[in-house]
Amino acid sequence: MKVCKVLLRESVRQTDKAYTYKVPEELEDKVVSGSYVKVPFGFGNRKETALVISVSDSADDIGFDPKKLKQIDSLLDLYPVMNKDQLALIEPLKSRFLCTSGDVISMMVPSAVGTIAKAKATFVDITSRQQAEELLSSGKLRSSAHINMLEYLLSEGITERKKLLSIVNASDAQLRGLRDKGVIEFSTRMLTREEVDDVKETPVNESDESFRVVHELNDEQTVAFTAVKESIGKPQVFLLHGITGSGKTEVYLKCAGEVLDRGGCVIYLVPEISLTPQTVSWIRGRFGDLAAVMHSRLTDRQKYDEWDRIRRGQARIVVGPRSSIFAPVEDLKLIIIDEEHDTSYKSESFPKYNTRDIAILRMRLSSCPLILGSATPLVTSKFAADKGIYKLLKLNKRAARDAVLPEVTIVDMKEQVKEGYGDLLSGPLRVAMSQAFAKDQQVMLFLNRRGYSRTLVCSSCGEPAYCPNCSVAMTLHNSKRIAGRLLICHYCGYTIPCEEAVCRECEGTKFKRAGVGTQQLEEILKELYPDRKVLRMDQDTTMMPGAHESILTKFRNHEADILVGTQMIAKGHDFANVTVVGVLGADLISMSSDYKSSERGFELITQAAGRAGRGTDPGKVYLQSLRPDNPLLMYAAKQDYDAFYESEIHYREVMKLPPFKAVGEIVLSLPDEDMLVARAGDLQKYLKDFLSYQDSSLGFEFYGPVPAPIYELRGRFRYVFMIKSSKKSYLNEVYKQVMEDFDPNLYPLSFDNDAGGS
Ligand code: ADP
Ligand code: ZN
Repeated sequence: MKVCKVLLRESVRQTDKAYTYKVPEELEDKVVSGSYVKVPFGFGNRKETALVISVSDSADDIGFDPKKLKQIDSLLDLYPVMNKDQLALIEPLKSRFLCTSGDVISMMVPSAVGTIAKAKATFVDITSRQQAEELLSSGKLRSSAHINMLEYLLSEGITERKKLLSIVNASDAQLRGLRDKGVIEFSTRMLTREEVDDVKETPVNESDESFRVVHELNDEQTVAFTAVKESIGKPQVFLLHGITGSGKTEVYLKCAGEVLDRGGCVIYLVPEISLTPQTVSWIRGRFGDLAAVMHSRLTDRQKYDEWDRIRRGQARIVVGPRSSIFAPVEDLKLIIIDEEHDTSYKSESFPKYNTRDIAILRMRLSSCPLILGSATPLVTSKFAADKGIYKLLKLNKRAARDAVLPEVTIVDMKEQVKEGYGDLLSGPLRVAMSQAFAKDQQVMLFLNRRGYSRTLVCSSCGEPAYCPNCSVAMTLHNSKRIAGRLLICHYCGYTIPCEEAVCRECEGTKFKRAGVGTQQLEEILKELYPDRKVLRMDQDTTMMPGAHESILTKFRNHEADILVGTQMIAKGHDFANVTVVGVLGADLISMSSDYKSSERGFELITQAAGRAGRGTDPGKVYLQSLRPDNPLLMYAAKQDYDAFYESEIHYREVMKLPPFKAVGEIVLSLPDEDMLVARAGDLQKYLKDFLSYQDSSLGFEFYGPVPAPIYELRGRFRYVFMIKSSKKSYLNEVYKQVMEDFDPNLYPLSFDNDAGGS
C-alpha cells in the first residue's frame, strides 16, 4: 500500500502541517512528490486542494490504523506542480516570511492549475443598451471601474468575465455592484477552442527596433561576463554596478546565452514596468521558444501555458517580474535581477517578501551565480560588495560608441523666481528646450508628486520640517480625534503641533505643503511653445489599461515633442531623440518620512538624467531646486554614486539603520480609533516588557506606536511599532511570540521584517 504526506493549499495556522493519505491503486504510479491532488478533509470531508510532499511504500511508520486512513480523491494535474528545488524552499520561506505552507504553494502554483481544463466561463452582457447609455450620461456613476466596464461592454458587446475584469482592471465586487444596478447580466457556458486561445500574445514584431543588435562585448563587459561564466556551478552573488547605458543588458544576455548553451536554465527578473511589448518582442526575438515571458497583460490561461512550458523544461529562460523568482525551472544555473534597487522587488502584500532574499535561497539550493545589476545599487548591496560578500563588477563607460553622459546643471530656483521666470520653468531650461526644438529633438519633464504631499516645507527656503533626532522629514497627521494638525516622526515618534515647527535652515516658522502644479506647467508650456505638442503621463492619464503603453509609443514615434510625467517615465525607457531633460522640484524627490528616500531620490535623478542623450547627441539635464546646495543633488548631478554612498552609509551607521541593523514594523489596524489607541497601548506595554528581558547582544530597540504615514486606509486606522535588531531572524522571533500571545481577531496585525521597501 502506498501512502503520502500532503500540505493543504488553503492551510491556516492550525492546519498548517503535513497530513497522511492513502494513494488509491489506480493513482499509484501517478502520485509523486509535487503532485497536486484533491483530498477529503475534516469531519465533513470537504474537498481540499493539497500538495504531495512525500510518498512512501508502507504505512508502518504513521502510527495509527492504516484502515482508518482517508484516501486521495483525485489528481488535479498529470504532472507535478512543484519540483524538488521548490519543495525544498517551502520550509525556509515559511520561517523567513512567517507564512503558512499554503501561502508558499499559492505563490508557486498558478491559480489556474486544475481548473483550466474545464474551460467553463462566465460572460457579462448589457441588459439594455438604452438604459446603460442613460446611466452613463446621467453622471450618477461614481466609480471609474463602473464607467469603464459599461463603456467597454457598449463598444465590444458580450465579454468573458475575467477578460473584462482584467481589461478594465476592476474587481469582482465592483462588477457585482454594477449588476446590482440592473444594467448588466451574467451567463455561463463552455468556452470554444477559439475563445480559450483568445487574447493572443502580442505578435513578435520583426521590424527594426524591437530586435536588439547583438554586440561584441567591450573590455569591461568581457571582464564581467568572464567572472560570471567562471562561477557557473557555484553559489556567488555578483553586483554588476554599471552606469546607465553601460551595456549591462548585453552582459546579462551573454551570460544567459552561455547557460542555455550548456543546457541549464535561467531566471531573469526585471521590474514589471520594463516588461513593455517592445521588451517582450526582442526577448522572443533573441531566445525564441526557449523564453517564457511572464507579464501582467497575460490572461490566466496564458500564464498557465507559460508556466507549464517552464516546468516541462520546454522554456529554459524565464523573464518576468518578482513573482518569477518562484518559477518551476528544473536545472537552475543563473539568476539575474536587473535594476536590483527597484522597489517592485519588495512585495507590498502578505507575505511581504523581498525577492533578493528568495533569490539567495535559490542560489544556495541550486548552487548557481546570482547577478544583481544596477546603475545605483542599494546602499546595502554596495556595502555587501565592499565587505567581499558580493563580488563587485564595474562598468564605467557608456557602451554605445560616442554616447557620453549628459551634462547636468543644478538651477537655483530662488534666483530664477527673482529674475521673473516663475518657479516652474527656469531660464536655462527654456533656452535648452528651444534649441532642442530647433533641431526637432524631444524633451522630457519630470514632476514629482509622490510621498511628499504629506510633509510640510518652509515657505521661505523650501526645506522640509525635519525630525531633530532622525533627519527624516516629519509626516503631517490629521486625526479626527485630535484637534489641530500634528507633525510626527515616523521613526522615533517625536511629535509637535504644526504651528511649532521651526525650519532648521533659516529658522522660518511658516510652512506649506510642497508641490508642483501639473496644470500650471501645461499652461506655461502652451504659452511658450504654442506649436509643440505635449503628452502627459501620470496617475490620472494612465488609469485605463494600455494607456501607459500608448503614451510611450506616441512619444517614441515623435507624435509629441514634450513628455511631462512623474517618476513613472524615468525608468528604463530608451528614447534616442530626447536631448533635454528637466527635473522640476528636484528637492521634493528625496523628501519623505522613509529613511530610504535619499537612496530613491538619488536613483530617480540618475535615471532621469540617464534618459537624455541615449543616442549620439549629448544630452542636457536641468535639476531645478530651491536648495541647490543639497549634497544629494550635487552627487546626482555629478553622477557620483561613490560620494553619495559614502555619505549615506555614514548616516545609516550613525542612525543604526540597514545594513547595520534590521528594521521591522508591526502594524495594528482597526476600524475604530479609540479602540486602536487602547489596544496599541496594550501592545506597547507588552513589547516594551518583552524586549527589556532580551539579551543586549540581540540589539533590540523599540519605538512607537506612531500613526502610520497613511493613517486612514479603507475605513481602518493604523498604528505602527518599529523594532530594530541586529538580525532579521530576531525580529521574526518577536513577531512569532506576539502572534501566540495576542488574539488576531482583537489585534489584527501585520508584520514586515524589512520595513521601508526593498
Ligand atoms: P544598461 O542596461 O547598462 O543601461 P544597455 O544594455 O541598454 O545599457 O546598453 C545601452 C546601449 O549600448 C544599447 O543601445 C546597446 O545596444 C548598446 N551596447 C551595449 N553593448 C555594446 C557594445 N559592446 N558595443 C556597442 N554598443 C553596445
Ligand atoms: Zn525622529
